[in-house]
Amino acid sequence: MARAPSYDTVVVLFTRDLRVHDHPALWRACATARTVVPFFVMDPWFSSHAPASGNRAAFLAESLADLRSSLRARHGNLFVRSGDTVGATAELVAKLGADAVMMTEDVSKLARARHDRLARACAARDCRLEVHPGTTVVSPGAIAPAGKDHYAVFTPYWRQWRNAPWRRVLPAPRRVPGPARLAAGRLPSPTAHGRPSSPGRPTGGETAGRARWARWSARHLEAYGEAHDDLPGDRTSRLSAYLHFGCVSPLELARSAEPNEPFVRQLCWRDFHHQVAAAHPDLPRRDYRPRGHRWRRDPAAEDAWRCGRTGVPIVDAAMRQLLAEGFVHNRARMLAASYLVKDLGLDWRVGAAHFADWLTDADLANNAGNWQWVAGTGNDTRPNRRFNLVRQAHRFDPDGSYVRRYVPELAGVKPPHLHEPWRLSVLERKRLDYPAPLHRGLNWGG
Ligand SMILES: Cc1cc2nc3c(=O)[nH]c(=O)nc-3n(C[C@H](O)[C@H](O)[C@H](O)COP(=O)(O)OP(=O)(O)OC[C@H]3O[C@@H](n4cnc5c(N)ncnc54)[C@H](O)[C@@H]3O)c2cc1C
Repeated sequence: MARAPSYDTVVVLFTRDLRVHDHPALWRACATARTVVPFFVMDPWFSSHAPASGNRAAFLAESLADLRSSLRARHGNLFVRSGDTVGATAELVAKLGADAVMMTEDVSKLARARHDRLARACAARDCRLEVHPGTTVVSPGAIAPAGKDHYAVFTPYWRQWRNAPWRRVLPAPRRVPGPARLAAGRLPSPTAHGRPSSPGRPTGGETAGRARWARWSARHLEAYGEAHDDLPGDRTSRLSAYLHFGCVSPLELARSAEPNEPFVRQLCWRDFHHQVAAAHPDLPRRDYRPRGHRWRRDPAAEDAWRCGRTGVPIVDAAMRQLLAEGFVHNRARMLAASYLVKDLGLDWRVGAAHFADWLTDADLANNAGNWQWVAGTGNDTRPNRRFNLVRQAHRFDPDGSYVRRYVPELAGVKPPHLHEPWRLSVLERKRLDYPAPLHRGLNWGG
């Protein structure tokens, strides 16, 4: 005999967990309530406070449309409203007399403030608030060194993370029993956000994310360890935006990737930065390890870096990939970031803000965590590490096809000069519409 539900009506508040597979909050709501109300609030706070990314706005709109059709296929719906998330949820709770709100945990300062306000609003309406896992493989804070609230160094975290108990992967609920009468509300349009976006940005949604994983893992997972740094080969999963918006579950990916250690380790890096951000909510703004850096201000150099006109081909290729695709390969992100902070001496926050404007996967924890790692203010155990960009370019883009793909002015230049156009003769350089390296004019390091 089926177990009687313990709730009459439960609101499942979606935030950045836009999927039906392996969604503990949705699963529990469907297992315990007679009526389940999947709910999303288009909160103007995000467009006014978060970086105005057209790529993310479009990806979000597509992900919501996909989620709605997955829920409809299960006799449910996605109910959408605009306004303050807490206010709109409290209003819905009052209107339906909901017994509980269920949602997925998150780590940002905003998410935590939202949670605290929502807890008060629910308590005032005699409604329970349940927070479930699902954003990371292992919840932030679930493992910690003795006497501390988080791991500051990756390797010991990785060792504990691998041995931590993982919850079971949940299937999508077969039926999401929706309310009898409630207006569904309009979904945002993927094109009407009025902000610039990249022509090659990924298409959002759980369906697209799962299809990408199935296709990519069948072809590339096995060789990921050797191939993930091959810049022109572009053989990483490109699942980061799907992970950021929760269109795919990190736990489900980790389970299906096992025992491929190199790939699972990358998912662990993601968890690592999330547990640092949970313990240091100011990570996107403040140095994790202040070391007295004195950053330069140089608006012209910042602009040249943003447009991909620094005169260092591997950096310019990365920066133009960002504008064209809303995505950059990890190795290229590291090199472009390193150039900004270690060669130009500019503040990592300038770079992180531009990445956040354009990356479809822009994520407070991963973006700030990685920028601080490169800048030497974060969790790198070698904070003075400095990449030799030319050596890195020859190593990871040996025939130059990554650079040629994004920097057409250099299409006719062959390696090794392609990665060092300043070594061409004066006459050859004059024929190229390509700048001299920006950092050479600075008396800043080597
Ligand atoms: C300066 C800088 C800024 C970055 N900003 C972001 C960001 O805003 N959002 C973001 O998701 N990643 C960020 N990264 C990490 C990494 O570059 C991307 O996650 C990765 O390139 C995404 O490509 P992929 O999905 O093909 O990765 P894959 O190589 O296929 O890896 C699988 C998944 O593992 C996770 N992952 C891989 N590398 C890292 C890493 N170094 N840190 C954390 N998670 C990782 C991602 O979720 C990724 O999707 C940044 C890295 C640098 C150096």
